Amino acid sequence: MCGIVGYIGNKQAADIVVKGLKLLEYRGYDSAGVAVIDDSTVSINKRKGKVEDLLKMVDVSKIPGTLAMGHTRWATHGAPNDVNAHPHTDSTGNIALIHNGIIENYTVIKTELLNKGYTFKSETDSEVLAVFIGMIYEKVHDVEMAVRLALNEVEGTFGLVVISTHEPDKIIVARRGSPIVLGIGDGEYIVASDASAIVEYMKRVIYLNDDEMAILTREGYSTKTIKNETVNAEIHELELNIEQIRKGNFDHYMLKEIFEQPSTFKDSIRGRLLVEDGNVKLGGVGAVAEKLKNARRIIITACGTSWHSALVGEYMIEHLAQIPVEVEYASEFRYRNPVIYHDDVVIGISQSGETADTLAALREAKLKGATILGLVNVVGSTIARETDAGVYLHAGPEIGVASTKAFTSQLAVLSLLAMYLGRQRVLSMADGKTLATELAALPDKIQYILDRADQIKQISLAYTNATNFLYLGRGYNFPVALEGALKLKEISYIHAEGYPAAEMKHGPIALIDENMPVVFVATKDEIYDKVVSNLEEVRARGGRVIAIASEGDTNIARLAEHVIYIPNTLPQFTPVLAAIPMQLMAYYIAVQRGCDVDKPRNLAKSVTVE
Ligand code: GLU
Repeated sequence: MCGIVGYIGNKQAADIVVKGLKLLEYRGYDSAGVAVIDDSTVSINKRKGKVEDLLKMVDVSKIPGTLAMGHTRWATHGAPNDVNAHPHTDSTGNIALIHNGIIENYTVIKTELLNKGYTFKSETDSEVLAVFIGMIYEKVHDVEMAVRLALNEVEGTFGLVVISTHEPDKIIVARRGSPIVLGIGDGEYIVASDASAIVEYMKRVIYLNDDEMAILTREGYSTKTIKNETVNAEIHELELNIEQIRKGNFDHYMLKEIFEQPSTFKDSIRGRLLVEDGNVKLGGVGAVAEKLKNARRIIITACGTSWHSALVGEYMIEHLAQIPVEVEYASEFRYRNPVIYHDDVVIGISQSGETADTLAALREAKLKGATILGLVNVVGSTIARETDAGVYLHAGPEIGVASTKAFTSQLAVLSLLAMYLGRQRVLSMADGKTLATELAALPDKIQYILDRADQIKQISLAYTNATNFLYLGRGYNFPVALEGALKLKEISYIHAEGYPAAEMKHGPIALIDENMPVVFVATKDEIYDKVVSNLEEVRARGGRVIAIASEGDTNIARLAEHVIYIPNTLPQFTPVLAAIPMQLMAYYIAVQRGCDVDKPRNLAKSVTVE
């Protein structure tokens, strides 16, 4: 959460920073602020709301200077308002700071500073750190040292950038828990929360590790730990390309990303399917192949949408490989002292690879001796770097806050993993071949659904005034019902619940009346008849049913107010196809209700705080 970007070089810095902030805005949009140093003075402009709101107040991109930094906030401490917006300064106004994360012991430090006579303008934890650095600077007269000494006292997480008029040709950067990438140019550097703000200008990057700092000047850079030990940081070449982070002709990133799914799904399975052998090749897990082969149990840990894909993964791995699987909310797993065996494999799923809870859960599992794997989208992210092995999603940058293409790519990679594990145990070559052939056919089937998006739009528009929704499914279609409900509530703010269709009788059925649309995922599989009975139960109570059904199922049209047909596939892969109409429904309903689908209220994409 929070987008951070800074530039030092010879170009118009604020322009680069503002462009970067727009690309990082998916990380938070409670406020935006920019600080520019020119001629040893710092000018700071900040405002509640989005980057556009700041630009309406003053075109900060035009403020002259070749050193600048900017921030988009996702508030943790203090309301989203102008005063709490970053950058924050020390008491003299000479040291400015932007911060992503939470200073957990800020009240202790703040009390100490108040006792010494310092005052504060905002309610944020971040300002406390700025004032603290300023206090130390008064003693040591060295900004880097002041930052370092302050950070050694701090508990919590930070990705931060500090600039100062005391040393106006320097940017100081530090990280613990919140991602920081440094773009390495020729006499110029960019620091950002993720590489999308860098890629237009620079291809060479350094990913800072926890408890590392970087000092950037126009003459060069150095990296060290916050204990002042030298670090020889590795330089990576960015694979990201600028077209991937443009919206193109689409109205929203979310819609673009929904429509990208035939190709992103293909990218996720490309080069990994050995159709003739009914098998799968996963280069990223080679190092732990033996551990995987002998795994007694698999635990999948994740948050949000990734947790839903984890549930599908559980069903698939147990079904195809007969390995017991448990799925855990990462935020719960870490704090409940879970039992972990040395022959457990713990898999973390995270689009960004930075999700704080998932990362912490994986670290905990590693500490207890498990083999840890990451299924992440962002190359070079912390989870990718810290896990023993992993599989990249290869879905390309996902900018819309509500995850769409990353979800289907997670399902693609989990399918591959289940097949890979299955073939080592109980899955026959013939069955492997059937699965591989069908997996390869899915991109065209996704396209088939997208080609009928207009019909889905028409159906969706009939429900824009609903205030509650129920999503029901069984077996593989239960997790996707959860995901459908999450998508709708995230972006349209309509209350929605996902439930196992039969479990509905134990509670949610009480809610059903003519105002309650119920989305049933009722595809042709071995429990189809049971799901249809559940559907009848809803109808008998006046519920309005929208069915997501298998092509050719004429029976269902009799029972549902609206039917969205999806192509036939194997039960394991139904979630991939069923997710598409649900994503489109959520999108069209939210747009019709006037919601900002790419930046839904209160949410941020990469949840880097606990
Ligand atoms: N804790 C800081 C604030 O509330 C930064 C929040 C964040 O990183 O999301 O301003």
